[in-house]
Amino acid sequence: MASEEPILGKKRVVIVGGGVAGSYLAKTLQHHVDVTLIDPKEYFEIPWATLRSMVEPSFAKRSLIRHTDYFKDGRVIISHASNITETEVLTTDGHRVPYDYLVVATGHAYSVPKARTEKLQQYEAEHQKIKAADSILIIGGGPTGVELAGEIAVDFPEKKVTLVHRGSRLLEFIGTKASTKTLDWLTSKKVEVILGQSVNLNSASDGNGLYQTSGGEIIKADCHFVCAGQDMGSSWLKETMLKDKLDMHGRLMVDENLRVKGWNNIFAIGDITDVQEIKQGYIAHKHASVTARNLKLLITGGKSKLEKYKGGPSLALVSLGRKEGLLELPFATIIGCVPGYIKSGDMFVGKTRKEMGLESYPVENE
Ligand SMILES: Cc1cc2nc3c(=O)[nH]c(=O)nc-3n(C[C@H](O)[C@H](O)[C@H](O)COP(=O)(O)OP(=O)(O)OC[C@H]3O[C@@H](n4cnc5c(N)ncnc54)[C@H](O)[C@@H]3O)c2cc1C
Repeated sequence: MASEEPILGKKRVVIVGGGVAGSYLAKTLQHHVDVTLIDPKEYFEIPWATLRSMVEPSFAKRSLIRHTDYFKDGRVIISHASNITETEVLTTDGHRVPYDYLVVATGHAYSVPKARTEKLQQYEAEHQKIKAADSILIIGGGPTGVELAGEIAVDFPEKKVTLVHRGSRLLEFIGTKASTKTLDWLTSKKVEVILGQSVNLNSASDGNGLYQTSGGEIIKADCHFVCAGQDMGSSWLKETMLKDKLDMHGRLMVDENLRVKGWNNIFAIGDITDVQEIKQGYIAHKHASVTARNLKLLITGGKSKLEKYKGGPSLALVSLGRKEGLLELPFATIIGCVPGYIKSGDMFVGKTRKEMGLESYPVENE
C-alpha cells in the first residue's frame, strides 16, 4: 500500500467513493495535487454497462477498470470510509487519512466484490443462470429492471420473462410518455409486465420456482433477479460531523460551488448531492469537472471566483437490448433505433474509457 505521507508541498485532496464522479475527479486531479481515493473495491465499474455484462460476461472486461489503470499518480485505499473529523477520514480497516480538501462522492452503496476477478466471475455465474433458465422473473421496473428485461428479451427471445414492479408505471424517474412507450416495447417483445405489485421473496427460492405477488398472483420462474433501487451511499455519514448536512433523502446539502453547506474545504459531487436535477452519470461527471477546476483554483491561490455549478437540460437514455433504446429530452420522448444507435451498441464503454485516458479496448495485461 502506498504511503499516507503527503507529497512535499502539495495539498492533500481525499476523495471518498470511486464511482462515476469520484473516479473521474481522481483521474483529473492526479498530476496537480496529492490525491487519495478511498473506495471499497479495487475497480471502477461503468454502471450503464452492468446489464449487458450479465448477458455477455466478456463485455465486463472493458467496463470493470482497475483504479490503478487510470489513476497512476496518487494512492488508492480499498476500504469503506467510516468517519470524518475536521482533518482526517477514517476507514473501516483502520486508516486515518489526512486531508486539506475532502470530496464526498459515495452516490449509491452497492454490495459488490472487492476484487475485479471476483466481479468477472459473478457475471459469468449470472450469465449461466440466465442461460439455464426457461423462465426468468425480474423484480423492479426502474432503469436496471427495464434494461435487464430488454437485454434478456433480445438475446434470449425464447425465454419467458416476467417483470414485476411495485409502482404504477415503469421508469418513474422520468415522464409518463417514456413509461408507456417502454411498456409497449417490452410487451412487443413478449415480456409480461405486472405493475402495482410486489413479490414475496420468502414465497419461493430459485428451487421451487413459484413466486407469490402482493396481489395474490403466482408466477412461475426458474430464477429471479432483484433490480430494486439502491440505497444512498450516505448511511456512513449519519454519525459523523456532516450528519446535520444530510437532507430527508440522505443527500448532502451543497451550495452553488458544490461545497457541503457551511464548509469551505468539503465538497460533495454526484448522486449524493441534493441538487434538484435528474441523477445521472453525465451529470456526476459534470460535477467532477467543476470541482476539479475549483480545487485547482483554491490550491493555487488563484484570485478569480470559484465556478458555480450550473445544471443543464435533463436527458435520460435507457437501453432496450442491443439495437434500440428510449431517449427522453426536455421536448420529446423517442423510442427505437436512434436512441439505440447512441447507447445500446457499445453502452458508452469506449467513450467512458477514453474519458478515463484509456484505449477503447483494454491492452492485454489490463
Ligand atoms: C442500469 C443503470 C443505467 C444507467 N444508465 C445511465 C446512462 O446511460 N447515462 C447516465 O448518465 N447515467 C446512467 N445511470 C446513472 C448513473 O450510473 C449514476 O448517476 C452515477 O453512477 C452516479 O455516480 P456517482 O459517482 O455519484 O455514484 P456511484 O456511481 O453510485 O458511485 C459511488 C461510489 O461510492 C462508493 N462508496 C459507497 N459508500 C462508500 C464508503 N462508505 N466509503 C467509500 N466508498 C463508498 C461505491 O462503492 C461507489 O464506487 C444509470 C444507472 C443505472 C443503475
